[in-house]
Amino acid sequence: LPELALRRELHARGFRYRLQKEVIPRRRVDIAFVNAKTAVDVRGCFWHGCSDHFAVPKSNPEWWVEKIESNRTRDMETESLLKGLGWRVVVVWEHESPMLAADRIEAVLRERSVR
Ligand SMILES: [Zn+2]
Repeated sequence: LPELALRRELHARGFRYRLQKEVIPRRRVDIAFVNAKTAVDVRGCFWHGCSDHFAVPKSNPEWWVEKIESNRTRDMETESLLKGLGWRVVVVWEHESPMLAADRIEAVLRERSVR
């Protein structure tokens, strides 16, 4: 599981975080660095409609398109709500290398200089 690999890597680098934190009611942050107000949103290529890997299933295509579109809308809403509260949001896709994603997150956390 890529998210687990990412979490392990962040932990190995000395970062501590909360999982599934409800920063905003009914919207959970996958990996939350509370002191640094940094949220990592791990998005599955299918469920979150990755532009490179999402393919509409052959059965019930209209339903799926609507479903994935509403997931994407919700992702964007969550991102802007978090930003409104002063959080930074790092979006990580399932297809990304956990190492490179950890590098990106580490750079953001270092800017905020909190571990
Ligand atoms: Zn993808």
